Amino acid sequence: MCYNIFMKKSNKPIIGLTSHSISTTIADSLGTNKLCLNEDYIRSVELGGGIPIILPAIHELSGVARYVTLIDGLLLTGGDDVDPLLYGEEPSPKLMATKPERDRFELAIIREALKQSKPIFGICRGLQILNVALGGSLFQDIPSEAPGKLLLHRQLSKESVATHSVDLLPGSKLGRILQEKSVATNSFHHQAIKKLAPGLTATAFSRDGIIEGIEMAGNLFVAGVQWHPECMVSSDPKMLRLFTAFSAVCAGEELFS
Ligand code: MN
Repeated sequence: MCYNIFMKKSNKPIIGLTSHSISTTIADSLGTNKLCLNEDYIRSVELGGGIPIILPAIHELSGVARYVTLIDGLLLTGGDDVDPLLYGEEPSPKLMATKPERDRFELAIIREALKQSKPIFGICRGLQILNVALGGSLFQDIPSEAPGKLLLHRQLSKESVATHSVDLLPGSKLGRILQEKSVATNSFHHQAIKKLAPGLTATAFSRDGIIEGIEMAGNLFVAGVQWHPECMVSSDPKMLRLFTAFSAVCAGEELFS
């Protein structure tokens, strides 16, 4: 097996990152909404060899096709809970804040990226919205809905600290990119995949059976992880491989040859 994901590229791919809006009350803003994205995503995409651009959740969805034309790949970032109405459920008492306008934009851009055959990588909520976009559902709240003896998925330790193991399916894209059977990851989620969408395969699991990684079969790279590798690239250099691999496929390279 030959990995060519570390090859130097002359044409760096443009990677579009989704974002969210927060209401701020800092002195200069008077409570206005502002675009928000953890800079770790930006740095990790750059370190991985891509050129990041931030995509706001636009309301006029006719612009989505143009966005997808401009980018070489789509990175779906973390954030708030996904609206359960989108997968046919009423809200559980444990549901946290939802942002319907972000959901609407991300569903549209996922469908358009698939239509234009652009690679997609989802992180945390990004994995979840990808699953919902393709017809799957979520546990609205892991502790109150998922079966069995559960692990802690909302760690109190800081973002760079790994707190649970994730086992990777041998031969899967994620397993081959990380070059490991098991990795230790951070965990900042109270939602998770319940029903896996048709067309997706679960290829990474925590030891309580929660799905921690998904991918689509075939040539187009469509995958997601439930943890936050962008917060771990300094503490665990192999997490950077996810971004290097994603950049490579966005640049049109074959990952495995
Ligand atoms: Mn977890």
